[in-house]
Amino acid sequence: MTFTYKREYRGRIRAVLLDWAGTTMDFGCMAPAVVFVKVFEGAGVPITMEEARAPMGAHKRVHIQKISELDSVRARWQATHGRAPVEGDVDRMFAEFVPLQLACLSEYSALIPGTLDAVAALRARGIKIGSTTGYLGSMMEINLRDAKRQGYEPDSTVCASDVPAGRPSPYMCLQNVINLQVWPMQACVKVDDTLPGVEEGLNAGMWTIGLAVSGNEVGLPLSQWQALPEAERQGRRERAYARLQMGGAHYVVDTIAEVMPCIDDIEARLARGETP
Ligand SMILES: [Mg+2]
Repeated sequence: MTFTYKREYRGRIRAVLLDWAGTTMDFGCMAPAVVFVKVFEGAGVPITMEEARAPMGAHKRVHIQKISELDSVRARWQATHGRAPVEGDVDRMFAEFVPLQLACLSEYSALIPGTLDAVAALRARGIKIGSTTGYLGSMMEINLRDAKRQGYEPDSTVCASDVPAGRPSPYMCLQNVINLQVWPMQACVKVDDTLPGVEEGLNAGMWTIGLAVSGNEVGLPLSQWQALPEAERQGRRERAYARLQMGGAHYVVDTIAEVMPCIDDIEARLARGETP
């Protein structure tokens, strides 16, 4: 055969899927990080904030397992307990993690500035709002309630505990697509502050926007970020941009307040027949 014909989607964006901590609420993605630190302290093996943040975005049990697999943490575990950490240790720490996380979520549930405006601008274009998270359903009950009180209520929320596997698998994105009844995949955009969250969107065949400043990559509450000297802010911002870009994000911006120009650009690319 000499010629083949290719089908192209040239329509508009139909859905934007937003992450939770570090994307729409909890500037700096603090809530999970502080509890991971607490749980490992309780196990007799204190960890750094950086170690606590390394696997951010994953299902919380998987996250604990991945921390325990870090070379530095394994070495300290071995030194303290005389053996490497095993499944039972991960199970025990996860059991301790859940109530501690539930107890402090509301301390960190303030919406990230720009969230309400971005959601309103997206909805004004007829775009549906989905969401994915590494939090469990019980944790999302609290976050959803706190978000609603502040005026944010996505059309769909899917937790890592609702699907066969969390990030970086695409299942939470795919479940959102079903809940929202939108297709094709190239009409959807995933917005996230972590590398596994960007990868989740890419694995689902969606456009992706990485958020460099408001989430896990910088890892500071808004007030601490604003208090940094400009030179240090710039250094941390550049490092975060580079990591998210290397992670495959189609766009990287500081926070959710800057997503609308990306949406305009994606729609222009779709109109030219481009795919993610
Ligand atoms: Mg996040």
